[in-house]
Amino acid sequence: MKFKKMGEVRNGMTIPAVKGDYNYPPANLCEISQEEWAKLFFLWHPKGQENRQICRDAEGKYVGGHTELQMWWQDEYSGIALSRTGDNQLIYHRFGCPHENTKELDQDECRTRGIYHSGRQYHVTECLECGYVHGVDSSG
Ligand SMILES: [Zn+2]
Repeated sequence: MKFKKMGEVRNGMTIPAVKGDYNYPPANLCEISQEEWAKLFFLWHPKGQENRQICRDAEGKYVGGHTELQMWWQDEYSGIALSRTGDNQLIYHRFGCPHENTKELDQDECRTRGIYHSGRQYHVTECLECGYVHGVDSSG
């Protein structure tokens, strides 16, 4: 699923495209197990926190009601969230893209596409899920 940056800054972070805002689910919102959620929560230092009351689906269609979603941003692209059932049972979520499914772009491909690449010690990866491009200098 592709999503583009909105460029909006909140809590010092750029929020990725989530089609609208407060009443919309974040991109790629999905349910995960409590075990997976706990692992992520204690692995990360959340960079931001956000609350939404969701009453529209990802396409913007009104779905009624208000699902409260507490969100913790891991970085500017992804994070974890909690919602609850009517009798206060927690539902565990993650959202955005953790950029785990990536491929490396070589210098030729970067040149063709106009992506910065400084040479042999430099590694550029592209996320196959959302298109995020990240460059790292490994010459350290
Ligand atoms: Zn990604």
